[in-house]
Amino acid sequence: MSEDRNLKQSITVIKGIGEETAEALADMNIFSVEDLLEHYPFRYEDYRLKDLTEVKHEERLTLEGKVQSEPSLVYYGRKKSRLTIKLLVDHFLIQVIFFNQPYLKNKIQLNDTIQVTGKWDMHRRTITASEMKMGPSNNKETLSPVYNVKGSVTIKGIRRFLQLAIQQFGDQIVETLPPHLLSKYRLPSRKESLRMIHFPSHDQDIKQARRRIVYEEFLYFQLKMQALRKFEREQSQGVIQNYDLKKLKGFLDSLPFPLTNAQKRVVNEILSDMKSPYRMSRLLQGDVGSGKTVVAAIGLFASISAGFQGALMVPTEILAEQHADSLKELLFPFNIHCELLTSSVKGKRRKEILERLQIGEIDVLIGTHALIQDEVHFHKLGLVITDEQHRFGVGQRKVLREKGENPDVLFMTATPIPRTLAITVFGEMDVSIIDEMPAGRKSIETYWAKHDMLDRVLVFMEKELSKGRQAYVICPLIEESDKLDVQNAIDVHATLITYFQGRYDVGLMHGRLSADEKDTVMKAFSQNELQVLVSTTVVEVGVNVPNATLMIIYDAERFGLAQLHQLRGRVGRGSEQSYCILLANPKTEIGKERMQIMTETNDGFVLSEKDLELRGPGDFFGKKQSGVPEFKLADMVHDYRTLETARNDATLMIQSEEFWQSQAYAALREYLHKSDVLKGEKLD
Ligand code: ADP
Ligand code: MG
Repeated sequence: MSEDRNLKQSITVIKGIGEETAEALADMNIFSVEDLLEHYPFRYEDYRLKDLTEVKHEERLTLEGKVQSEPSLVYYGRKKSRLTIKLLVDHFLIQVIFFNQPYLKNKIQLNDTIQVTGKWDMHRRTITASEMKMGPSNNKETLSPVYNVKGSVTIKGIRRFLQLAIQQFGDQIVETLPPHLLSKYRLPSRKESLRMIHFPSHDQDIKQARRRIVYEEFLYFQLKMQALRKFEREQSQGVIQNYDLKKLKGFLDSLPFPLTNAQKRVVNEILSDMKSPYRMSRLLQGDVGSGKTVVAAIGLFASISAGFQGALMVPTEILAEQHADSLKELLFPFNIHCELLTSSVKGKRRKEILERLQIGEIDVLIGTHALIQDEVHFHKLGLVITDEQHRFGVGQRKVLREKGENPDVLFMTATPIPRTLAITVFGEMDVSIIDEMPAGRKSIETYWAKHDMLDRVLVFMEKELSKGRQAYVICPLIEESDKLDVQNAIDVHATLITYFQGRYDVGLMHGRLSADEKDTVMKAFSQNELQVLVSTTVVEVGVNVPNATLMIIYDAERFGLAQLHQLRGRVGRGSEQSYCILLANPKTEIGKERMQIMTETNDGFVLSEKDLELRGPGDFFGKKQSGVPEFKLADMVHDYRTLETARNDATLMIQSEEFWQSQAYAALREYLHKSDVLKGEKLD
């Protein structure tokens, strides 16, 4: 497509953009004509004249009127000034204030017609103006796009460059959506949309252009993910694991409880993947306590009954030990050998484990990232399970997968990922959800207390401890900080030691301790040698101390809802009623709402949806590691309906013969080629 390639050319082909400008634009990641055209405005300044009777308080607007008074200028403070004039707008006399623009005094004369743009104060009938134009409005430049800019590039500059780009290349913007989709959703063409989003004449232009561009971004993204999944499934030869159904039933009968319906469902999904020649790539989501471990054990059992080995990788040593203990207990009666491999397993013992693994004497290896080291060789690896998968980098998971010949992979996570995110971030995986708790589980009672209620909280804590129970106390920081006025673990630890005066033992845990030190503290707590554990969020993942019934979280407003829910999941693991107390003085309405909803629901999915809504997708997993895709215009939360539509359309397309042949889809196929999906390469 030669015309299309025109848009891929460097922006220097635009007449009026020289090397220097190109360099400044490169700093904003704008290299080609297309990059420039896809540098969308993030809002619009509305310069259309408004009828004053329709304007709301504090609204930003542009007014035109006749100056009724000489401008009066007052200086105050250092270099600060206020210029006031009276302006007649239609029949209303209003006041206009300009801050720190004293030079306007000589520009504005009595009886001039001017336009001012600013914020309207309905009660004072005053507009605080940031911009002024002489003369009547020619009513042309009405909606003016506002762009992100950087360095020497200005918003006006971007607008000018875009004008030039459209002038020169407007006719060469080719359509990238097939005609039937354009007509099905009544979407404007790509050419029209790009023009309208940058140079709108009405609100409708923006709306229509946005509708198309958002849909297109989602559709392309979904096509990429789904094509990837299709190729992963069809091209990569997985292992066929013919498990022994009779033995497996025997194992299920040996469990001390019947599976919940949700567990049964996900077990079936996993087993059917394992039996198929496709390589399984499945995400298992289930709230804390929903019983993922036993599902993992069933998968491992099946794999071993088919003659393979299994591996379980977890992020911390403590978790590895806990998993090793529970798997040994479940699997040992069936003559299945589980071993633990962490960095603390050293010397002769390590050597022996590695040897036995390689000749297939060990059936299941459980461990931390120690599992992916070069020296670890499996005899016949069939199933890899990772727990809390988003804590491992994509690279680490890949290495583990490569330890076998395309073993099936199951990623387990207790972070309930909102549907919206799941279908975007994990679009190339299959997803299984355990959405049901084992029967008879008591729900944790959650309370929100202000910091000045701490005394009462401590009395409550002492009451729980006196019943022989244990408590966690979580703080956002390790030690005092001059920047943040929040509780730190070291101070709280000292305070509680003083408070309990030896009646109970208080331990301290944080990320700066060595792995050994952490282990020692954690063991002491799990053996009830410590009754109280003050900690930062390092205890968040997976730790299991059923006798702990109280979770106190300082400065709870600083944590995400999903994270609070994870922390809360450390209690409520035994048969006793458990409690979670959030100590928080949130300053914002959103902060208050977040605390409130924590007290109202124990459902991780409800909370995660709410978290996403309140904080946005970028914040959801924290940091970049999450792999949350970035769209230029689309917003996963706001445009979520469109995302679902695009996903369904993508599914239909990928499945259809026509998609792979018809001319109408040429642009989409080319896109997939470009993103390497059709070459069957992994996109990380
Ligand atoms: P998580 O999903 O957080 O990893 P676990 O697998 O640790 O949850 O399970 C939590 C507890 O629930 C364990 O003590 C486990 O034995 C128990 N459990 C799991 N499934 C069931 C079930 N179907 N019925 C009753 N208890 C169950
Ligand atoms: Mg678990």
